[in-house]
Amino acid sequence: MNVATTLTACDFDEIDRISREELAAIANQIDEERIYPEDIIRAYGKAGAYATHAGGIDGNVDLSSAILAMARASEECLSTGFCVWCQDTLAWYLASSDSDFLKTEVLPKVLKGEALGGTGMSNPMKAMGEIEPMRLKGVRVEGGYRVKGMLPWVSNLVEDGYFGSMFHVDVEGSDTPKRVMAIFHAAWDGIKLKLDHEFVAMGGTATCNVQCRDVFVPDAYVLGDPAADFVKRIRPGFTLLQCGMAAGMIRNCIDLMKQVEGPLGHVNKYLDKQPADIEAEYDALVAEVLEMAKTPYDLSDAFYLRVLKARLRGGELAMEAAHWAQLHMGARGYVTRGAAQRRLREAYFIGIVTPATKHLKMLIAQMEAA
Ligand SMILES: Cc1cc2nc3c(=O)[nH]c(=O)nc-3n(C[C@H](O)[C@H](O)[C@H](O)COP(=O)(O)OP(=O)(O)OC[C@H]3O[C@@H](n4cnc5c(N)ncnc54)[C@H](O)[C@@H]3O)c2cc1C
Repeated sequence: MNVATTLTACDFDEIDRISREELAAIANQIDEERIYPEDIIRAYGKAGAYATHAGGIDGNVDLSSAILAMARASEECLSTGFCVWCQDTLAWYLASSDSDFLKTEVLPKVLKGEALGGTGMSNPMKAMGEIEPMRLKGVRVEGGYRVKGMLPWVSNLVEDGYFGSMFHVDVEGSDTPKRVMAIFHAAWDGIKLKLDHEFVAMGGTATCNVQCRDVFVPDAYVLGDPAADFVKRIRPGFTLLQCGMAAGMIRNCIDLMKQVEGPLGHVNKYLDKQPADIEAEYDALVAEVLEMAKTPYDLSDAFYLRVLKARLRGGELAMEAAHWAQLHMGARGYVTRGAAQRRLREAYFIGIVTPATKHLKMLIAQMEAA
């Protein structure tokens, strides 16, 4: 697939140039020194990477360009590809909301990469699936909510950044708390960020522990109260966008395998999987993802199930492709700066980031049993 011909609304030549000239040059440094490539994240914004999927629920919205731009970044570095997803997802929440304030005051800056941020929805998504308890709790006060608690990881987050998350609010006379989803501004009083980079890879993601101490969330920042309808609206797009990370990872692993066909093909041909095998699965996956990208606001269960299956396959194929890239490249890929070992460590992130492989399998099993 030629991604360059598929993108129209964002400047894919510029995204390609940034990825090839600027990002590729520092991918190892991002991995080793855990530096956050803020300039590159902002430059992608100037090139339109975050701006093509935010037409709003009534607009003619297509996620293809966003997914392909994210894939191009992920081909070089998954930390950066994940930050692109975080920024895309923040834009997705804002554009999908009914809040004129958020759409006029915050969204335009996010689309251009002038304001950065992401999402703290892993814990709420797992809480909604009854996998773990909700970490943020809110109480109603005049003009908004006061929220406290701690989110362990929010990526692509800087001191004046934004993120979407959710909190529980106790309801009088009911055992079941209400769920409220809102945008948080990291600069608000009571929010403290602490960088957490103790990971085997993905250290360039500006991932923070976010402590909330009686943070006032004004009503204007609320996305869904109660959150159920809004979550239903954003969940297919949220999940489908992540396939950009998988596509970029798989594409690069195929290229790594092909790179050693000359010197090692005579023996690599005995390996069970060849680049052409992975490529055939990649083409089918990308075609399915780009087809679904045209209707991200399809709220039917049938569509969401299809999205979950593509996301699951994307994660599995990314991990498989990285495994075969390592075996094809051999020792060349196993040295400290070898691409294959970095891709292998990064690829597992696609399998564990929410919705993780196990969470996806649980959701698919539940939907198929219903
Ligand atoms: C690099 C990175 C960036 C991330 N960025 C974001 C983000 O931007 N937004 C977001 O919402 N989430 C983020 N996450 C979280 C991610 O989406 C997943 O929730 C996480 O990887 C675990 O998911 P899981 O379903 O495999 O849960 P599991 O790993 O099965 O369980 C997770 C639970 O285990 C416990 N736990 C976690 N770490 C430890 C530990 N060291 N020791 C003991 N118990 C522990 C916690 O209670 C946690 O909730 C990030 C994670 C990583 C590694």
